[in-house]
Amino acid sequence: MEDSAVTASLVIAIDGPSGAGKSTVSKELARRLGLAYFDTGAMYRAAAVWLERHGALDQPEAMPALIDGMPLELNLDPDAQRFVLGGDDITALIRTTEVSTYVSKVSTCLGARDVLVAWQQRVVARERTAAGWSEGRGVVAEGRDITTVVAPDAEVRVLLTASEAARLARRALEVHGKADAAAIAATTDQVVRRDRDDSTVARFMDAPPGVTVVDSSNLTIEQTVRAILDLIPG
Ligand code: C5P
Repeated sequence: MEDSAVTASLVIAIDGPSGAGKSTVSKELARRLGLAYFDTGAMYRAAAVWLERHGALDQPEAMPALIDGMPLELNLDPDAQRFVLGGDDITALIRTTEVSTYVSKVSTCLGARDVLVAWQQRVVARERTAAGWSEGRGVVAEGRDITTVVAPDAEVRVLLTASEAARLARRALEVHGKADAAAIAATTDQVVRRDRDDSTVARFMDAPPGVTVVDSSNLTIEQTVRAILDLIPG
């Protein structure tokens, strides 16, 4: 379908493992369709920073109430991603290796997930009816459990995958600027260990009914974007 033809409300939900290209592809889809872009992983990262500041990273029982009161401002513009926590701009901080290392402490706490999922569902519901960034209405939402738990009623549900080798190489390039053996080894914890931890609480390695698998191992970003645009009901 034509990119500019989207006027009705549209939710595109994309999940999948680290390094499959979720963020890059989701942002590009949001830009082309004039939709909001919702990075749910950034909320888990922000929550991890908030809990770390409260010394509560190892206190799962304290997490739900603390996250519920988290003063997080989200920006859903795909070209102006900004996260402000209690007046403090944490946009760069949440991408650091340090935060990647401890974020699974939050995402493996079921009580913390309940609070974040409910919050994310409110955001998706609001964006479904709000005017999008240009003429569109709706949102491209990405994260581990988006197609199954947060937005199972999305019009387009995609599991974006890639081989482990491709995912490791992409993350190494992103974080270290190269994908040689040392950079890949340094990235393995962030990709393989984190996905293993995450997959104990969210299903994102295989597609349930209604979710289309897009394997990006041998696709360019443009080809991946096109494959997902083709799934939009006409
Ligand atoms: O996508 P990103 O790497 O920024 O996500 C950070 C972490 O947040 C993931 O490793 C995962 O633990 C968690 N997450 C999640 N459910 C989501 C989005 C992210 O558990 N919907």
